[in-house]
Amino acid sequence: KANVQVEAVRQHNISGVKNIIAIASGKGGVGKSTTAVNIALALQEEGARVGILDADIYGPSIPTMLGIGDQKPGSEDGKRMLPLNGLGLSAMSIGFLVPDSQASIWRGPMASTAFTQLLNETAWDDLDYLLIDMPPGTGDIQLTLAQKVPVAAACMITTPQDIALIDVRKGISMFDKVQVPVLGVVENMSYHICSNCGHESHIFGQGGAEHLAGEREIELLGQIPLDLEVRQGADHGNSPVFADIDSDISQIYRRIATNI
Ligand code: ADP
Repeated sequence: KANVQVEAVRQHNISGVKNIIAIASGKGGVGKSTTAVNIALALQEEGARVGILDADIYGPSIPTMLGIGDQKPGSEDGKRMLPLNGLGLSAMSIGFLVPDSQASIWRGPMASTAFTQLLNETAWDDLDYLLIDMPPGTGDIQLTLAQKVPVAAACMITTPQDIALIDVRKGISMFDKVQVPVLGVVENMSYHICSNCGHESHIFGQGGAEHLAGEREIELLGQIPLDLEVRQGADHGNSPVFADIDSDISQIYRRIATNI
């Protein structure tokens, strides 16, 4: 697996965590967090112990997606914070600690300090994978995180829309710059299948991520449809891979997970 190859290249000292994978996107709203949760659940289904660190200061949605939006983390001997558990995943989020409105106006250094604290001062418990839900974009905050965090590899999420693809290219270049290997790209909202007639339509365009993968010599890890089940699952702490591991959509996430 790719992460085993890169692990030797980027050693890290986050205790209790074997592999750190960044889940990133060029733009907000492309389904980065939703995809991160479903991939995490699919890795868990394979038998791995998995955590998610929600670093998306602009919209920390992981707590809601895991059905633990109303909880607050406790601490271990008054020092390190204990991650919360949602759907079997260990989770820590900026959203547990500060109101959305506050974190989203932080400047780079503040966001980066808060994030480093979350990463280092959480008592992660023997995780095979820690997925980091990165803030979207390629500004200072993202660059600092990509540099500071001992990430083994990054996984990019995009929609097929040109405007998202342009930004995800910038994201790949950012990881190249800080020498973090990019595992591949997931195309989310790739197509939609009509529940009445079964017709497949490409609402946001077609072929973009495939083209990008070829151009940047990275893998197209999977194509996920625009799907009601995915949206409802995300809103109600009942993501598809958790709700029904054998559904068609869960199979797509499981295939992606086998390449991580
Ligand atoms: P991001 O993390 O990129 O900002 P989110 O994961 O928060 O994006 O997703 C944005 C919105 O799109 C959410 O309402 C989510 O439920 C919805 N969504 C994401 N992926 C899909 C999908 N494949 N099908 C339907 N809705 C989706």
